[in-house]
Amino acid sequence: MIQRISRLKTALPELTELENLISEGKQHMRIRVPAHIQRQGEHLPFYVIEMGSVKPDAPVLAVVGGVHGVERIGTQVILSFMKSLIRRLHWDPVVKEQLENIRLLMIPIVNPGGMAENSRSNLNGVDLMRNAPVEAEGNTPWLVGGHRISRSLPWYRGPAGAPMQTESRALCDAVHHALKDQKFCISIDCHSGFGTRDRLWFPYAKSTNPWPGIGAAHTLTELFEHSYPHHDLYLFEPQAHSYTTSGDLWDHLYDSYTAEQPDGCFIPMTLEMGSWLWVKKNPRHLFRYHSLFNPILPHRHQRILRRHLILFDFLMSAARTMPQWAPQGAADKTLAMNAALQRWYPGYSGNITTTV
Ligand SMILES: [Zn+2]
Repeated sequence: MIQRISRLKTALPELTELENLISEGKQHMRIRVPAHIQRQGEHLPFYVIEMGSVKPDAPVLAVVGGVHGVERIGTQVILSFMKSLIRRLHWDPVVKEQLENIRLLMIPIVNPGGMAENSRSNLNGVDLMRNAPVEAEGNTPWLVGGHRISRSLPWYRGPAGAPMQTESRALCDAVHHALKDQKFCISIDCHSGFGTRDRLWFPYAKSTNPWPGIGAAHTLTELFEHSYPHHDLYLFEPQAHSYTTSGDLWDHLYDSYTAEQPDGCFIPMTLEMGSWLWVKKNPRHLFRYHSLFNPILPHRHQRILRRHLILFDFLMSAARTMPQWAPQGAADKTLAMNAALQRWYPGYSGNITTTV
């Protein structure tokens, strides 16, 4: 037993850290474990943590990480945010007041089995971010766009017609439950491994056409850029500017949300930390698979952990004040949409299929 616990601690220090944070801050949290992932006789918990308001109309911020097991830095960034939140709750009235006005949903380790194995996919070989029942429009890049050829190739979507994997299902259920009846919601899903810059992606992953919610995403982008002109780390853009995929969970969640709440405003974002820069600065990264996705030098690791705290603070304020700044009413929405098209789709002349 002791041997098993210490093996788990070595393989999943993030889970140990999360559980330590839960015991430190549990008086501020509502904790659920809707699923367990079986691995070598262990039952790894899928934690869903809520903090803040329980009012039905409180805007929601969902913070998600560890969808791809090897991208541990996404989980670590969230744990760093949680830690400072829990500790500031002891003395900082601003944080307390902030949380009284939003509902914060946190799922820091979506894929604990994959993380324990240092693998992108879950233990069934499925890439959870290709696992939703969503088909891309047009061609996607070979393999990367999601495929059903074999579980031994990366970006595998799972067998055709099969239900979603346990982790995808648990994530979708938790987000769906939190967003149900909410008019204003933002989510941020933390990844790493693409490009040399930190990107903040909006949907769609499935289409190169403008996403119907892009007007609100543009307003959010301008809020950040205007408020933090010197924190110019992020490239805000639609994901499809980089590549398109099938099976994206956020495409799926957004589409189900708007089907139920056509008047609601939900902005799902993905933070894609640009790890190629870490590789470029330290070629030792090339020799270990894990280090292609995670900073290995201690000073760089520390820097990454603190670098995104501003973003999380911003998102809490942005979620809270969404009823004030999110475009509402036909005229406002058209204005926001036109500004978004001008920035990200200059020259676009097609129709946008749904209203924001
Ligand atoms: Zn990822």
